[in-house]
Amino acid sequence: MRWTHLPDRRDVVIVGGGHNGLVAATYLALAGKRVTVLEKLDTLGGAAVSAQAFEGVDARLSRYSYLVSLLPRRIIDDLGLDITLARRRYSSYTPEPGTDRGLLIDNHSPEKPAGWDAFYEGTGRLARAIFPTVTEPLLTRSEARRALGDDALWESMVERPIGSTIADAFDDDLVRGVVLTDGLIGTFAPNIDESLAANRCFLYHVIGGGTGDWDVPVGGMGAVTGELARAARIAGAELVTGAEVTSITPDGVVTYRHRDEELQLAGSWVLANVAPSVLESLVSIRPRAAYPTRDGVEGAQVKVNLLLSRLPRLKDTAVDPAAAFGGTFHINETWSQLSAAYDAASAGRIPDPLPCEIYCHSLTDPTILSPELRAAGAQTLTVFGLHTPSRLVDEANNDAMRASLQAAVVESLDSVLAEPVESLLLTDASGQPTIETKTTLDLEHALGLPGGNIFHAPLSWPFADDDAPLDTPARRWGVATAHPRILLCGAGAQRGGGVSGIGGHNAAMAILSA
Ligand SMILES: Cc1cc2nc3c(=O)[nH]c(=O)nc-3n(C[C@H](O)[C@H](O)[C@H](O)COP(=O)(O)OP(=O)(O)OC[C@H]3O[C@@H](n4cnc5c(N)ncnc54)[C@H](O)[C@@H]3O)c2cc1C
Repeated sequence: MRWTHLPDRRDVVIVGGGHNGLVAATYLALAGKRVTVLEKLDTLGGAAVSAQAFEGVDARLSRYSYLVSLLPRRIIDDLGLDITLARRRYSSYTPEPGTDRGLLIDNHSPEKPAGWDAFYEGTGRLARAIFPTVTEPLLTRSEARRALGDDALWESMVERPIGSTIADAFDDDLVRGVVLTDGLIGTFAPNIDESLAANRCFLYHVIGGGTGDWDVPVGGMGAVTGELARAARIAGAELVTGAEVTSITPDGVVTYRHRDEELQLAGSWVLANVAPSVLESLVSIRPRAAYPTRDGVEGAQVKVNLLLSRLPRLKDTAVDPAAAFGGTFHINETWSQLSAAYDAASAGRIPDPLPCEIYCHSLTDPTILSPELRAAGAQTLTVFGLHTPSRLVDEANNDAMRASLQAAVVESLDSVLAEPVESLLLTDASGQPTIETKTTLDLEHALGLPGGNIFHAPLSWPFADDDAPLDTPARRWGVATAHPRILLCGAGAQRGGGVSGIGGHNAAMAILSA
């Protein structure tokens, strides 16, 4: 009788079924481990999913994350994933505020702003030196510097604020802003950021695949997660949805709720696909507050999804909308506008104008639309608004802020369009316009992202400090926590942010090499 009270045993229990949890599960199951993934939601994939966002409208949008750069070829090949990533011809388009002209960066054209090629030749070398190391045990800072083999380049990208490097490399206000945005995605930082958080963010935006290209997942982000779930199941991992983990003991007992039942599993290892601060609250014996996870971790963006009857016309008639919307379309993101936006948000206001980047998935990959929507010429837009830190949003004002942020995004878009974007929205089955907005608090509620932080926690360098203890497999792989049996396997692991599978891969390697 005694034995019936003991929890079932597993080699590995994975808390969270985001894409990283699925990567870890597949590697471990392929190696013969008995693995169970417990996912709170009824769907797998976390922030890497497709969803039918508008009732009765057959368009499957990448609801949260939308482009892939950091997923290493090695993981795709090791796990036998059937994923197609489409390269974009246009890198970016940015209208010049106050004019009807803009800057189009066409990867097929040699015409680039002054200083562009030299600057990106440097980031290319950085990418080729660093990216192959992210699926290996951590290099130390000195080793990474030696691997790059160019101290001046290292200084300019790693040691001094990236904004200073950009300001030295480019004279033009607009070009400086376009380049800087890679340091500000999901990261609330001033143009010249002495804390170097913007450098870390910039680095992860330029090293992916050894090129820094951001590709379109054909079929939407859900196609990536769908493949990962398929691979995990074939490898023999057990994937349980609707299973919310409520506590974890340091010796590996995981308590969870599933269909109104409280159940337990005991793992020789526990992998946390949840954010580090969420893990902390699950392991803590202190009672949990409603949202205990925000302390010290801040998101900084607003995400808006739209379905339009067609692409909008631009004020800039010299550029084909299909080219402008085919790459990353920057709006109100000059250097001076980014600086003013940071100041406004720091003072508690929504920036006006709001710096935004837009991208049209359906231009590159129309398969996310039904044949009817495709035939009618419908297009999806995904907008990522910058400098809207989670400190602006709380439980009391979330609905009002969602409306204000959506209005700010629409106004920012309209400042470069020749027609109001809202006039092109379709309607869903209830007659509502096909636009949805996710605040940082919405992301915290839906996915458990602390403060809506898209990377689970502030990004860390892709190398260890020279004096960091690298005395255990978990530490060498950058996945250690305060508890030896519990490892991080998600975006919050060192080198983990973004849709990359790197956190999952590295946690699995730490276990397999222990
Ligand atoms: C709006 C937005 C846009 C983004 N855009 C991009 C992009 O274009 N490209 C890119 O590379 N990255 C992007 N990112 C970042 C990227 O999506 C994430 O960093 C990545 O998906 C994290 O994956 P993960 O598997 O580590 O964690 P998550 O996707 O966060 O998954 C964690 C899982 O844990 C589950 N969970 C939480 N608590 C519990 C619990 N108590 N019990 C059980 N399960 C639990 C959650 O439901 C979730 O499924 C974006 C993120 C957001 C939010």
